[in-house]
Amino acid sequence: MNEAITIQEAQEMVDQWIKKYGVRYFDILTNMACLTEEVGEVARVIARKYGEQSFKEGDKANLGEELTDVLWVLICLANQTGVNLTEEFRKNMEKKTRRDSTRHLNNQKLQ
Ligand SMILES: [Mg+2]
Repeated sequence: MNEAITIQEAQEMVDQWIKKYGVRYFDILTNMACLTEEVGEVARVIARKYGEQSFKEGDKANLGEELTDVLWVLICLANQTGVNLTEEFRKNMEKKTRRDSTRHLNNQKLQ
């Protein structure tokens, strides 16, 4: 269960799952709404676990599950819009490093 899954493999796994069990992808706007919903579920857990909000009886508090729900829908959106997340992640890391290589080091608020 600890075998690494690449981003590309995750995109393929989601695509195969959708084709086998999901009939088809929800349309892009529906998945955008689903992504927003799942981000809200992450916020709910964090507000209760790390913030000042309290749990109600029956509240579930599985942050890993909720973050993975976000990842799932994000991968769906990438797949259906033709985004290669491996390539984009690499580009994003390069961009952040180019842009912010000294920014946070020089941020006195972080010292
Ligand atoms: Mg969820």
